[in-house]
Amino acid sequence: MTYRAPVADIAFALKHATGFGPALAAGLYGDLAEDVVDAVLAEAGRFASDVLAPLNAVGDRHGTPLRDGAVTTPPGWRQAYRDWAAGGWNALAAPAQWGGQELPQALNAACLEMWNAASMAFGIGPLLTMAGVEALVHHGSDALKRTYLPKLVSGEWMGTMQLTEPQAGSDVGALRTKAERAPDGSYRISGQKIFITYGEHDFTDNIIHLVLARLPDAPAGTRGLSLFLVPKFAVNPDGSLGARNDVRAHSVEHKLGIHGSPTCTMVYGDQGGATGFLVGEENRGMACMFTMMNQARLAVGLQGVGIAERATQQALAYARERRQGRAAAAGGGSASSPIIAHPDVKRMLMTMRALTRAARAICYTTAAAIDRADRSPDAATRQAAHERASLLTPAAKAFATDVGCEVASLGVQVHGGMGFVEETGAAQHYRDARIAPIYEGTNGIQAIDLVTRKLPLADGGTIKAYLGELRRTVETINATNDPAFGWTGVRLGESLDSLERATQWLMARPNQDAALAGATPYLRLFATAAGGTLLAEEALAATRLPHDAAAEPAGRIAIARFFAENIAVQARGLERAVTEGADSVTGADAALAG
Ligand SMILES: Cc1cc2nc3c(=O)[nH]c(=O)nc-3n(C[C@H](O)[C@H](O)[C@H](O)COP(=O)(O)OP(=O)(O)OC[C@H]3O[C@@H](n4cnc5c(N)ncnc54)[C@H](O)[C@@H]3O)c2cc1C
Repeated sequence: MTYRAPVADIAFALKHATGFGPALAAGLYGDLAEDVVDAVLAEAGRFASDVLAPLNAVGDRHGTPLRDGAVTTPPGWRQAYRDWAAGGWNALAAPAQWGGQELPQALNAACLEMWNAASMAFGIGPLLTMAGVEALVHHGSDALKRTYLPKLVSGEWMGTMQLTEPQAGSDVGALRTKAERAPDGSYRISGQKIFITYGEHDFTDNIIHLVLARLPDAPAGTRGLSLFLVPKFAVNPDGSLGARNDVRAHSVEHKLGIHGSPTCTMVYGDQGGATGFLVGEENRGMACMFTMMNQARLAVGLQGVGIAERATQQALAYARERRQGRAAAAGGGSASSPIIAHPDVKRMLMTMRALTRAARAICYTTAAAIDRADRSPDAATRQAAHERASLLTPAAKAFATDVGCEVASLGVQVHGGMGFVEETGAAQHYRDARIAPIYEGTNGIQAIDLVTRKLPLADGGTIKAYLGELRRTVETINATNDPAFGWTGVRLGESLDSLERATQWLMARPNQDAALAGATPYLRLFATAAGGTLLAEEALAATRLPHDAAAEPAGRIAIARFFAENIAVQARGLERAVTEGADSVTGADAALAG
């Protein structure tokens, strides 16, 4: 079974729990009308389902062989990319000044989910180009913008993001790639980068690398990093392509998943140094890279949502067809039941659906906060929205990508043995999903970011305001007295109590090992409480729209209730791991000896 973009669900999630709907109604997006939003989503869904999704298995089988320095992408992929770019999808949220359509980031987030559900290996390329555009818009010189942005925005050229070196992964400050000043104001780059996504390919005629490197007199660590734009081919003043730059792909990795995406080792400076152009200021490269990474982190979170959605669709279809045993509810007779009738299979399917939708809600909420930070008329609102987006970004990335793996794993489980063989495709989703918790900053690093940098924002005011907002939703659920919600309000309220206590505990121990030990369970607790509450908000919205076919109030209440009663109840355990489990982590050396 292939992927069908769940356009109605995506549109509902976008409009009803994320802040996007009120922003649209209040005119934050100018004269953008709801029917245009719906039309964009429908068209993206068609392209993702009909064009990209069928190429996913082809990419997995074919891979991206490197011969004589050139990578061949899988059959059909180059044309699909070109059609995708020609459709304007790369330019959706980019500034109009550079040829973009300047549509909301939240709408782009919904589209990113669809591209990546259709094919993660395809989607990872464009999302890095979009992140590169963001970095150039904010930090590039006028000359760089004029030369590179129009073609990066249109998708005529693609971008890469280059931090990693053998000794510098999570510890970016350890990187050694060298940059030397040249008399003409440009720089000469030499060194090696590893694991570079789409470092070489045949989608576009030029590739624009954004590379972190170190000047000879730079301070040690991240404070000595500068960002350079290094084109594969020089660009002549008239915009045509000139000489080949001194950068090449040396090899392509063989990996567990996303086989359609070339992961390259890049070599700079075989012939004296690649020509690079400074982005931003010398030694301020990390600030530019963070602009790029924040955008990419949310987008990688959306990869998790996408793969989870695809795995869920496939598992549901299989569970309706596959017959085994006789479910108790089926009564007498000898005919076997579809496995979806067995409570344990239903539990798996509900877990998949509920986690996927919670992760989607968190990611879209983050994107809507970015829009408010970019577009709100007053500075105080922009600042508060920026802090909200900063708080949510690590949770969006880490929770959604963990969900991608967990849901894809459950997808294999629902298929039984057929999930373990490659024929059904469930195994590919499981393999593909596994990279997302690793790249763009591992999920461990995201959790540390949440605890050490994001909780202290506005002296704790950012998390406090968010908790207050979540509590108001829970109060509304409780006030409905609708028996269909079961224990939803109570359990979500308890999860918020746990989150509040764990937050206070961590904030009393800034940067201590005890806090770092609890960072990962804390991030899960944060996302569990927030995700469950957002699902409840969606359900509430659905009850207010009984005549909207996409609202499906009964289904949405059932999902919110399942999440609250089966997943949010884990909050108390996660709280204990944060507040009581640290000593057993920091003091674990004896157990890990030998
Ligand atoms: C398919 C693929 C594509 C990639 N694409 C790109 C790309 O386009 N551009 C690019 O620059 N990089 C890319 N990467 C690299 C990727 O971002 C890194 O692999 C990732 O950041 C982790 O670095 P590492 O592999 O060196 O692991 P390490 O940093 O060695 O981490 C190993 C483990 O230790 C943990 N750890 C490390 N340091 C700490 C710490 N201080 N505190 C707590 N835990 C810690 C990590 O969380 C992880 O679990 C890609 C990688 C892959 C596999």
